[in-house]
Amino acid sequence: MLKDIICDEFQITVSELLVVSRSILDLLGRLQEISARLTRHLTRAATTCGCIKITACKQDLPPEIPYSELKSLLDTHINGQLCENCRENIETCLGQMLFYLAAICNHLDLNLYDILLKEYKQMKLLGHYKLA
Ligand SMILES: [Zn+2]
Repeated sequence: MLKDIICDEFQITVSELLVVSRSILDLLGRLQEISARLTRHLTRAATTCGCIKITACKQDLPPEIPYSELKSLLDTHINGQLCENCRENIETCLGQMLFYLAAICNHLDLNLYDILLKEYKQMKLLGHYKLA
């Protein structure tokens, strides 16, 4: 399958390129740092750029609602669409998170695609119960 090859090549390339930050502690710190940057970019999209609005509030649900109907009733709290600049910033952060995730996998001798596949199979098997 082409997707597993791309994922494996991505992980191998990360291994080849990662010279600095060899310590697992550095990698964990970088992943958290980028996660914080992602939060900042998303916040700025709402507060500085204004391309999106985040309108969070308590989501009151009717009692005894079937689980299958929850998705249609729960709000993401996001209104609007990311502009090109904000989208680029957020995509960059998510890409960097993938880089450090692959690096952590390399350090622990784990295969990123195997983890992705395992998670996918669990989702397919457990469905809605996976997140409950
Ligand atoms: Zn924007």
